[in-house]
Amino acid sequence: MALSTWAAQAGLPAPVRVGKDVFQIQSPAGAFQLAAGTRVASWNGIKFHLGFALAVTNGVPFIHSLDADKNLMPLTQVNRPVPRGRGVIVLDPGHGGTDNGTKSVLGNFFEKDYALDWARRLKPLLEARGWRVVLTRDSNRPVELGERVLIAQREQADLFISLHFNSANAGAMGLETFCLTPAGMPSTLLRGPEENNIFHPNNAQDFGNQHLAMRVHRSLLQTTGMADRGVRRARFMAVLKNQQRPAILIEGGYITDRNEAKLIASPEYRQKLALGVARALE
Ligand SMILES: [Zn+2]
Repeated sequence: MALSTWAAQAGLPAPVRVGKDVFQIQSPAGAFQLAAGTRVASWNGIKFHLGFALAVTNGVPFIHSLDADKNLMPLTQVNRPVPRGRGVIVLDPGHGGTDNGTKSVLGNFFEKDYALDWARRLKPLLEARGWRVVLTRDSNRPVELGERVLIAQREQADLFISLHFNSANAGAMGLETFCLTPAGMPSTLLRGPEENNIFHPNNAQDFGNQHLAMRVHRSLLQTTGMADRGVRRARFMAVLKNQQRPAILIEGGYITDRNEAKLIASPEYRQKLALGVARALE
């Protein structure tokens, strides 16, 4: 659909060309910026990833209707608080037990321990904001991915937030926040060939997923000052796709990058990560 058609439907001003094949829509909640030929877009300067690149024909920008519905529309509401429901959050420190997650480039320090520390710091901050908080693990024990989903189900959680740290061979840096790819859309991150037209249980939460992801991602960037790798989409993450509530997975920096590994090793940085998530849920 023409980007201007979406803007009109959303009650927003028409897109304005702000560069060569770069278009901006000024919404009351902030500016969307989309560029021809790329799936990377931004809202208030914060990156998110489209399923399909913006197409420009005869100077007119076109966006896929799925991107309009599933990516842009929830972002017009980011300044609204996350709905509280019963007020229950399940925090999911990644890995545990013999599953160490990624090993730090600095030595024998592991993602599983940093993720648990992040969750333990975050819990009281959320409780102070009126949430009841359940951790999928509060020790170095293994928890199967399916069990993590069952815990959220048993607690009738309103939100599910999985906490991880990232790894890469090349020098990637910064924060990423994932939620489930909407049906029909290609993912940002794949682990092998993928069927795009599949509808997972968590796809019933597409709006809430993107809304929660951007609120948390924005707050984390503000609190930590880390590089922005954007809100991203993945379909392979078992802890997300079967959730019956908005669910996100945060990668709180790269422990394969020396500078970020040093940050992640510091309690001050992990406290900032905790504060970043908590502030998004006020
Ligand atoms: Zn992980």
